[in-house]
Parts: sequence; structure tokens; C-alpha cells
Amino acid sequence: MDISTICVHGCDKRYDTTGAVSVPIFSSSTFAHPGVGQSTGFDYSRSLNPTCEYLEHTIAALESGSHGIVFSSGMAAISALMELFSPGDHIVASDDLYGGSYRLFSHISQKNGVTFSYANAPEDIEKLITPATKAIFLETPTNPMMRTTDIAQIAKIKRNLLLIVDNTFLTPYLQRPLELGADIVLHSGTKYLGGHNDTLAGLLVTSDSALNEKLRFIAKTTGACLSPFDSFLIIRGIKTLAVRMERQQESARIIAKWLGEQSEVAAVHYPGLGGMISFSVKSEQVAVKILESVKVIKYAESLGGTESLITYPTLQTHADIPENERLARGIDAKLLRLSVGLEDAKDLIDDLRGAMREI
Ligand SMILES: *Cc1c(COP(=O)(O)O)cnc(C)c1O
Repeated sequence: MDISTICVHGCDKRYDTTGAVSVPIFSSSTFAHPGVGQSTGFDYSRSLNPTCEYLEHTIAALESGSHGIVFSSGMAAISALMELFSPGDHIVASDDLYGGSYRLFSHISQKNGVTFSYANAPEDIEKLITPATKAIFLETPTNPMMRTTDIAQIAKIKRNLLLIVDNTFLTPYLQRPLELGADIVLHSGTKYLGGHNDTLAGLLVTSDSALNEKLRFIAKTTGACLSPFDSFLIIRGIKTLAVRMERQQESARIIAKWLGEQSEVAAVHYPGLGGMISFSVKSEQVAVKILESVKVIKYAESLGGTESLITYPTLQTHADIPENERLARGIDAKLLRLSVGLEDAKDLIDDLRGAMREI
């Protein structure tokens, strides 16, 4: 079945006999048992809730995986993942990660005894692998510089290491890491999957049953579960994922081309796929002016939703990365990141043009 059809119809789990086309929101924290030692399959919503389970099956189907687990945010999902590792373990991660992932690794995981090395090119990643290495953590394209890494190539060199891919930017509509050899896919469902800038969520998918058991144990034990209502909102968002991705990508291509032709713009970083563009302008003043002058586009963190958002990575998403490392990655005061929403592309261009002319 085509992925756009799976997006609309979700998984084939049904929980009632009314014929409801939309999955019910099971707003119940606990479930009564039919007898001692018996269960309906649902006991307590921190472990499993029908609405959340529906989303778990749906994301698993979309990512060509067998098991999904939902969390209260993308960071909650990554924090749960880090519980797979022990003091002394080493992880090789993409160089130019989402700032929150980097903050978690450098301030919390490292304190817990896990060490990290960063690289993007497969040959550089391979060189960093040591006997203590347990996992490779990839983000592709990276945030905000849009560098890409060939997942299939990394899968070839990973040996027995866990290959974890943050697929937030492209979503299963444009990239399915498990099909390319990854072991775990991770999402901030807050972004394209939810798609409406109204809900936080995190999701993990794997096809490895033993890994799923471990992750489920961690999820129910640490407790950062997603609420049934928020699960419903993500399910509802996913129904339109295919059409939103198509439209956002089409507009992003038009806008990336237009940006490349502007004298105020020094460089455009667009991988040719998806709805995210980063671009550098000629000076810090131009960057600040654009942020303060756009009207349709909102100056806000986050991405992947119906409303276009413009972000200042140096002060927002990546502010916690030490300045020298930030600058080495090209994240300076001239860099802006644009999440192209569902508005008309011409209106977005007019908005950017107007903001640049304010100068
Ligand atoms: C936003 C984001 C996260 C974190 O997700 P939250 O839902 O904000 O906790 C992780 N990875 C990427 C690539 C992101 O964009």
C-alpha cells in the first residue's frame, strides 16, 4: 500500500464496534480487569493506552518497522534511548545535531558516564569507532546546516553497533531509515508528524523485538508517556502528512531558488528534499532585520507545521553549543533557518522580500 494511504487510514487496529472512522480518545488512566490474573490487554495508561497504541502501530507501519513507542516529546524519546547505555559506553553522533540532543548528550549522558564523538562522513565515523562504541546516532539532514549522510553506507560499516536515526526532518514520507539498515528510528512528532504547531510528541520505531522490550520497559519505568489526547492529535496530523510534505517541499524548492538569487543572501543550504531551508545573509543586521520584520512568517522555534517559522539558531535552537563549536559548524549570527509552511509560496517570498527591503 502506498505510504499516503497508510497516513490517511493509520493502522488496522480497531477498539470498538461502532464503526467510528476516527480512533476514539480513551481518556482513562486505568483499565478494569475481567478477573484475577486477567487483563483486557490494557492495565494502566503509562504502560499502554488504546489511543497511544494506535499511534504506535501507525508510526511502525509508516517506518516499515514492527514496533512503535510514543513519548511526551522528542527529547523524552531520546532520553529513554540513552537509558540503553551504561557508564563507559561510547556513541558516535552526527556533527551538527539538533541543539537539544547535543545538550542532552553533553550535560546529562556524559555526566552518566557515556562519551560521544562527532562526525558526518562515513569514513570519519568509521575512524571514531572504538571497542567501547555501542551506537551511531545520525541526524540526516542535519539541523541546521542540512548536511546529509548516506544511511545505507553507515549501515554497511556499523558492524554490531546500534544505528539510530533521527528522521524528524524528512519523515517516513521521504526517508525510511529502517529500510536502509537502521535499527531504531526516532522522531520529534512535534514537527511534521503532528504538523500543526499544537502538540509535543516523541516516537521511536524498531523491528527488533528484544530492543522493543527493553525500550518499553524503560518507557513505562521512566514514565514520559504521551497523553491519549495528544496521541489523537498526532494521529490526526499524520492523516495529511503526504499532502503537507508535498506542498511544503514544493514551496521550499521555489523559495530556496529565490533566496539564491537575492543580493542580501550569501549562501542557501537546501538538500533538495523536504521543507526546511537554512540560509546565510550578508550581515548580522540583515539577519536581525528579517527576524523582526517578517509578518506572515513567525519568528519562533520549531518547524514542520502549517505556519511558516523562521528561527535564529545562534540564539535559539543551538544557543547551548559552545561558541567555538557553533562557529566551526557555520552556525553564526548571519544564519537563519526557515521552516516552510502551507501558506502560498508567493506570499512567503513577498514577506521575505519586504523584510529584506526594510534595511
Ligand atoms: C525538535 C527536535 C527534537 C526534539 O523534539 P521535541 O519534541 O522538541 O522534544 C529532536 N530532533 C530534532 C531533529 C528536532 O528537530
